[in-house]
Amino acid sequence: MPTFSSEALAGKVAIVTGGGTGIGRGIALEFAKVGADVVLASRKLENLERVATEVRALGRKALAVQCDVRERAQVEAMAATALQTFKHIDILVNNAAGNFNVPAEELSPNGWSAVVRIVMDGTWNCSQVVGKEMIAAKRGGTIINITSNTPITGSPGNVHSASAKGAVVAMAHTLALEWAKHRIRVMCVAPGQTETEGVRQQLWKNPDSDKKYLQAIPAGRYARPEEVAYACIFVASEAGAYLTGSTIYVDGGSTLVSVPASVRVHEVGETKS
Ligand code: NAP
Repeated sequence: MPTFSSEALAGKVAIVTGGGTGIGRGIALEFAKVGADVVLASRKLENLERVATEVRALGRKALAVQCDVRERAQVEAMAATALQTFKHIDILVNNAAGNFNVPAEELSPNGWSAVVRIVMDGTWNCSQVVGKEMIAAKRGGTIINITSNTPITGSPGNVHSASAKGAVVAMAHTLALEWAKHRIRVMCVAPGQTETEGVRQQLWKNPDSDKKYLQAIPAGRYARPEEVAYACIFVASEAGAYLTGSTIYVDGGSTLVSVPASVRVHEVGETKS
């Protein structure tokens, strides 16, 4: 198991949206192991409280705040509570997202906006609200958007998610340029297929397509949430001080070969019947 210095993020306060499950939980726990205090923000407080307890068991402080990132007032309230508790915010990880499989021609307007509002509007709400606090505090900061390789590879069956992730990449590039003068670095970390409960339940119901996905990943296995977290630690630490406006792929090589569209389309077709 690789390790960072236990001081890599010492004294830092990090907000992780969607920190109650999957990759977000992994980021929160790995951040805590290297010295960060963590604010966990999403809709389901019971999940956040569970992870907050795990963070505290690692010797760090944790705050669980119920927050729907689509709602600006809730994001403002979450950031205000974080500031009241910890006095500063150094890292924001925009990890919250939603996704489901549907052929593009059958995607409803509501389905489109459900995903785009979480991923694109939610990332913007958190970035602007926290970014303004970072600018005012004059301490610099790091914003990390958890994206994916779909803006490059395409993702049949996920046009809403792939489009929103592409927007979030453009957002990171633009904010990196605008906020460099405030010493705020804005990066993307793009996981490949990662073993999380949510993904298993929603996207890989079929063992046959699971096998085909695995065959298409050069590393021969899915990523683990903590492996995505390690890239985030690197980005947010002093070691990543010269990183801004780019994307780190944690994908076992899968972006280079991509999962054949035939596998994905097959899977989407199966969810219909
Ligand atoms: P996950 O376990 O489903 O996590 C998504 C999180 O987002 C949940 O904790 C959920 O919490 C939160 N969320 C959803 N809607 C929200 C809202 N309106 N406001 C606040 N929080 C909200 O999925 P995951 O696999 O860990 O994915 C984490 C990130 O990695 C996502 O950005 C995803 O696109 C990206 N990613 C994952 C994979 C993969 O293979 N797993 C691959 C590429 C990229 P609540 O329900 O409590 O709100």
